[in-house]
Amino acid sequence: MNYISTRGGMAPQTFTDILLGGLAPDGGLVVPDTYPRIEPALLEAWSALSYAELAFEIVSRFATDIPAADVKRLVEAAYTPEAFGHADITPLTELEPGLHLLHLSNGPTLAFKDIAMQLLGQLFEYVLDQRGETINIVGATSGDTGSAAEYAMRGKRGVNVFMLSPHGRMSPFQRAQMFSLPDANIHNLAVEGTFDDCQDIVKAINNDAGFKAKYKIGAVNSINWGRVVAQVVYYFRAYLAVAPRIGAPVDFVVPSGNFGNICAGHIARQMGLPVGRLIVATNENDVLDEFFRTGLYRVRGSADTHATSSPSMDISKASNLERFVFDLIDRDGAELARLWQEVDSTGGFDLGKTRYFARMVGEFGFASGKSTHADRIATIRAAHARWGVVIDPHTADGVKVALETRRDGVPMVTLETALPAKFEATIVEALGSTPPRPAELADLEQRPQRSTVMANDAALVKAFIQQALDR
Ligand SMILES: *Cc1c(COP(=O)(O)O)cnc(C)c1O
Repeated sequence: MNYISTRGGMAPQTFTDILLGGLAPDGGLVVPDTYPRIEPALLEAWSALSYAELAFEIVSRFATDIPAADVKRLVEAAYTPEAFGHADITPLTELEPGLHLLHLSNGPTLAFKDIAMQLLGQLFEYVLDQRGETINIVGATSGDTGSAAEYAMRGKRGVNVFMLSPHGRMSPFQRAQMFSLPDANIHNLAVEGTFDDCQDIVKAINNDAGFKAKYKIGAVNSINWGRVVAQVVYYFRAYLAVAPRIGAPVDFVVPSGNFGNICAGHIARQMGLPVGRLIVATNENDVLDEFFRTGLYRVRGSADTHATSSPSMDISKASNLERFVFDLIDRDGAELARLWQEVDSTGGFDLGKTRYFARMVGEFGFASGKSTHADRIATIRAAHARWGVVIDPHTADGVKVALETRRDGVPMVTLETALPAKFEATIVEALGSTPPRPAELADLEQRPQRSTVMANDAALVKAFIQQALDR
């Protein structure tokens, strides 16, 4: 299998060629040249597999330039009951007949990003070893992504992580999660500024081509193809667990902002998984809801990006959407490039009056819904009262939309994207009590923490990186 760019300007490359990179050289996103097709008989046979075995079957179809035995070893190392607290890795619970919750948040940082990141950590170390290379990941985080990346990359040969976070603006839990890691290859920089300031510094570092090349600066952002592939696995797993028979439709609701998680659902569907509908659930930052309702993709400025109680979905543009639109417009790279030029020049594009609009729903199965803070609070309360479960605010965005859109006779799976322990304040507001926390994290905030506070200045961050690496 080879990889190409959504904008048509990249010579075909292999999986290991594109794994460590970010954007394609033409500014597009990398995608496989075809999707492997899984026939019903094979799908049926996959029902008997463990999570790691299923992950092997799927990942090896995309990572065709890594020997099968090595893929097997890497997925087995990534998906252990020790790391995910459960033999099933992504267990399901049935809240009431036909309504399921897919638990994706039992990894080390209690959010679904661990599922992709844990595999990425294994893959990065493997590819760097093979090539005798190193990478220095520089990222900005407001919470979930940074911690998932640090837990995945801690102690990995050939990898250093420099993670910038806004000083004093993360929750005590999130701060403790990141800053208590003792590993020498993990560096936490608390920048005196906002998350946007942190991102600007990361951009400035990446725009300094000389520095970037000399210090082998890389990223693990949500457009990384390896992350998307890893997420495809749990759609198959959930389908096999809840479909009454192979071929029957199953609907999925996915809380999303950046279209990362649900992009994997789209790919699973393109591979032949009989997904009925893929329903995007957004919060007040409703770029995606607007797109799937009207065909208008309109990115928001930072002034129009609301800080909500499901903060990991507070985004103003949905980077991974480009992968879906590429398929929607019959993989026409020139047309795709034109659409994203329109995003750059006018802030969006409108497919509402094109023939593509009807296909989003009809052929590709997409639908959407959105929530407000009051909806989240009401849904957290209702879930607790009706089913005796405590759900986090992002998952509540999903459950709210699931209850609105479920169909008679079609199993509905909502993806749980974080554990409530990560978002204590909102749970206290909804239920009046603090959410349960995994026992091994009871003392998290008491552990010694390590971070370097730094003025909001790219030059100082560069100097820090230089000093750490030249040592
Ligand atoms: C990252 C994140 C999301 C959104 O993921 P997308 O990439 O936008 O699909 C939702 N919930 C939580 C808890 C997250 O950490």
